[in-house]
Amino acid sequence: MQTLQSVPGMNDVLPADAARWRAMEDAFRATCERYGFGEVRTPLCEFTELFTRSVGETTDVVEKEMYTFEDRGGRSLTLRPEGTASAVRAYLNSVAGTEPLARWYYMGAMFRGERPAKGRYREFHQVGAEAYGDGGPAVDAEIIDLGYAFIRAIGIEHTDVRINSLGSGDTRLRYRQALVDYFTPLKEKLSADSQRRLLTNPLRIIDSKSEQDIALRPGAPRLTDYLGDEDRNHFDAVQSMLAKLGTPFVVDPTIVRGLDYYTRTIFEFKETSGMLGAQDTLGAGGRYDNLIEELGGRPTPAVGWALGCERLLLAASGHTVAAHPPSAMVIAIAKSDELAVQGEALAIAKALRDAGIVTHIDTRFGKADRQFRHGEKHGARAGIVIGSAEIAAGTVNLKDLFAKTQRTIPRASLVDEVRALLSAPTPGGP
Ligand code: AMP
Repeated sequence: MQTLQSVPGMNDVLPADAARWRAMEDAFRATCERYGFGEVRTPLCEFTELFTRSVGETTDVVEKEMYTFEDRGGRSLTLRPEGTASAVRAYLNSVAGTEPLARWYYMGAMFRGERPAKGRYREFHQVGAEAYGDGGPAVDAEIIDLGYAFIRAIGIEHTDVRINSLGSGDTRLRYRQALVDYFTPLKEKLSADSQRRLLTNPLRIIDSKSEQDIALRPGAPRLTDYLGDEDRNHFDAVQSMLAKLGTPFVVDPTIVRGLDYYTRTIFEFKETSGMLGAQDTLGAGGRYDNLIEELGGRPTPAVGWALGCERLLLAASGHTVAAHPPSAMVIAIAKSDELAVQGEALAIAKALRDAGIVTHIDTRFGKADRQFRHGEKHGARAGIVIGSAEIAAGTVNLKDLFAKTQRTIPRASLVDEVRALLSAPTPGGP
């Protein structure tokens, strides 16, 4: 029979990699908590309308990429393609009325039916942060700094923070018109996608990846030239506060972001060593001052970002590799009375585990060599060997598998001795 495959673009994380995922998630939680953000967990799917109304009908995500299905009651549900819309819904359903100033972070799986490539999947994971209820520039600077601090905390060194402003009110409309005026006479030279975007979402022509579109970009109107005074002051303040925080950034007028809900400050975190190829945007975000009202809440400004975990781990490879934790290995050597010795080995492993010590045991038992190899594979340092003689004497044989030494100790002092050995300096180590 043919082996069943996973859905293309949806990946397994095996134990060896899961340790790196956990290290990244731990660093994310710790960084967010330090900045005063609390964790929110939302369902994996929502009513489809939430995404069409927030992300925007004419965006690639909503037009082509959503996993949408009907539930048994005939209602249209969608697997979440991003986290902001769900978080806003949860905010509106909970604290919006009573504590509008809220700071939340989330992490979890997102789903988009894109063409799979390195760094682009159909099930992928994001970590994200959102700050509600504050429209000032300080929180923009702070949340950008949070993203940068987290990226640095997991060992990624080559990152650009690129920022731009979309303005508010009618800036976008005026800019949109200016783009239509500029690109319409050049329509034939645009890529097929951008010819379509000219009618539906002309801002997207500015961040198109097509060579044809890029060639036409230098003469195109620049978003920042269309900002009103208040928007410009806000953007200037974000920049001076980022400078004050020591968060390096560059202003990049070509950033427009794909989702409809952004206003004013928008930004991207880009990996710059080249190791991610075309998928070099680690994450992005911005201010979305109208979204909460559009989804039925009171006018409430907000700002947030999301970073892609798979890309973070690719970019951090070599940095966040979790070392084997200090661990023990129990080995049973029985010439007769096998079951009694094996049972005792299990009981010793349990006693060590109950004391909080990571303990391996090869429950196939068999030859001592093979049992020792099992321990080596897991990087175990303390080897506890028992046989009938040790059981009779109330002792165990404790080996330092790194230093290749051994001694006999009383069974009663096992936990203390193993703990002492695991915390002793590694022979030949730093
Ligand atoms: P977006 O929500 O489109 O602004 O994406 C934010 C970040 O999520 C991106 O910069 C990527 O790191 C990650 N991301 C988005 N789509 C995918 C995908 N299909 N596969 C892997 N990562 C993704």
